[in-house]
Amino acid sequence: MLLDACPRCGTRLTWRRRGLGQCTCRHDLLTATQVAALPVLVDLAAVIAGLCAGRCPNDSRLAPVPDATAAAQLVWFVASDIAERHTGWRSFHMAKPGSAEIVSAVSAAAPVLLDWPDGLQAWLRSRAELVANGVGVRATFGPVLHRLMASLRGPEFAFLHAEVRRWLADDWRGGHVKPWSPLYAPPRPGKLLTGVEAAERLGVTPSRVPRLVAAKLLDARTSRAGSRVFHLVPEPAVTALLARSAAALTLEAAAGRLGVTAGQVERLARAGLIRVLRSPPGRPRGVYVEPGALNELEARLDAACGRPRQSGAADCTLADLSERGRAALVPTLHCILVGTLSVARCDVGPGAPGLRRYLAPSACLAAPTGMGVADPCVPVRAAASSLGVSVRMVPRLVKAGCLQAPAARGIGGRLGRRAVTAASVVAFPGLFTTAAGLATVWRTSTREVTRRLSAAGIAPVLPRDPARGLSAVWRRSDCEGA
Ligand SMILES: [Zn+2]
Repeated sequence: MLLDACPRCGTRLTWRRRGLGQCTCRHDLLTATQVAALPVLVDLAAVIAGLCAGRCPNDSRLAPVPDATAAAQLVWFVASDIAERHTGWRSFHMAKPGSAEIVSAVSAAAPVLLDWPDGLQAWLRSRAELVANGVGVRATFGPVLHRLMASLRGPEFAFLHAEVRRWLADDWRGGHVKPWSPLYAPPRPGKLLTGVEAAERLGVTPSRVPRLVAAKLLDARTSRAGSRVFHLVPEPAVTALLARSAAALTLEAAAGRLGVTAGQVERLARAGLIRVLRSPPGRPRGVYVEPGALNELEARLDAACGRPRQSGAADCTLADLSERGRAALVPTLHCILVGTLSVARCDVGPGAPGLRRYLAPSACLAAPTGMGVADPCVPVRAAASSLGVSVRMVPRLVKAGCLQAPAARGIGGRLGRRAVTAASVVAFPGLFTTAAGLATVWRTSTREVTRRLSAAGIAPVLPRDPARGLSAVWRRSDCEGA
């Protein structure tokens, strides 16, 4: 390799010296230690020499540069970017650095010319990895790509521009190029969509996309820039979500499959026993149930099945429980799934609706007032959701005597104070009401309900607690006169 400076005195070599092989200090330069050039530099030199001589090297991996100048410009641009990235000082491109620096930078940049287009793509990838405090070409790459388009312009670099644009559109994972940018190329179909494009495909508003992503319904690549959050959605994820929402059952259809009413399916969903899709894209607003969620419920019931019982005339199936009160099914299913109650399979045909295939536990068939040992209990959270009240409300309701905590011993006692009896949950809606419940029946506001009841001198069983945001509860029988 060529020498920059004299190995003995260290002065930079100039043209004005004693002889070709002699430094001004009379040192014989031919005695300097020989350093072999890297193979990649030899290849690069061979290609450039070939182009200089007007021979087009017969190599399919070579970048389609028309001449040696373009080849050298391309390699030098990338080499100076690689060198400047380490020094952080933009002087490499203009100044003439020492040979050692040039060797390391040019050998790192040579694949851009010699291994087309993988070398270019590797450089772009390594550039994109460095970031990023933002989203977009400018935030990720800084000015380098715009500088590349500006300094390597002209028809001989059209191939380079086309490849950079294509890579940004199809392979770059960091964001989207704005359509008005000189770096923009239309992406191939089947690539990442922006949040807005995904919303268009799904037929929802753009603000819905982050919520779909947060609910894990939509798989997306998320990046942040300050307080803004950007989502890039792969097209297959959009198609998958549309297929899921098209396959979801309406509450009525799900009710038909379970053999209960639509209202009960809704209550099962509120109690967390069935997963639901709320207003899935492409369907009218409402609550939908995925077929998989029904299968999951049946599988859990199957797992909870005890030994088969002979069905008799007095037996009723889980689906028949609906006739026993508004909330009976929810607490019963809860007890079955937590293992407090056992359930048995019923001998019916394979086409029977889901809940008709199980016999109701005999404990549920006892009179609601019977507080036997087998009295089923409901966790506080489930009771609250099946009654439509806040969880914090339940202990107050127990204190006021509206709900019953289980006896200290027996099956319910195991759940301790974190459970209430299923019977009291079943009975609650028939006996008590909230201002919101009365407002619906009377077709007026809760404020008006409260005013009317206090005017009539009817005191609530449980007064309001505005500090904790809890509403009052009245006994139904008290309110009938108002
Ligand atoms: Zn010298």
